[in-house]
Amino acid sequence: MLADNIFLKIINKQIPAKIAYEDDACLAFHDVNQQAPVHVLIIPKQIIRTHDEVGTGDKELMGHLHLVAVRLAKELGLGDGYRLVINCKEDGGQSVPHLHMHLLGGRPLAWPPG
Ligand code: AMP
Repeated sequence: MLADNIFLKIINKQIPAKIAYEDDACLAFHDVNQQAPVHVLIIPKQIIRTHDEVGTGDKELMGHLHLVAVRLAKELGLGDGYRLVINCKEDGGQSVPHLHMHLLGGRPLAWPPG
């Protein structure tokens, strides 16, 4: 699963993406396989492969990713609500080996997920 990291190529601008937000610590871009009217991926620039690699030294970074999600949700018109998802490894459905937060919204989202 963790063989290839296409998101590093997006961070390094080696492949294109529709960027929604960028700063020194993170990048947010629209998912190519959109699952809702708004589907943005928020990723750290630092390499963290999966959510279970997050450590105590990453507290500020993780908080920052959430603040970026709040900012984007406002900018992208998600005032009625949204969902944040982090898939972790095989059972979580993670397909790209670089930590990423999905920001989904723009329609009512069903629960539970599949
Ligand atoms: P996950 O299944 O949680 O690992 O999510 C990976 C997401 O990355 C999927 O929703 C893919 O559609 C998305 N994705 C893969 N490659 C790209 C790409 N080049 N640009 C934008 N999104 C991508």
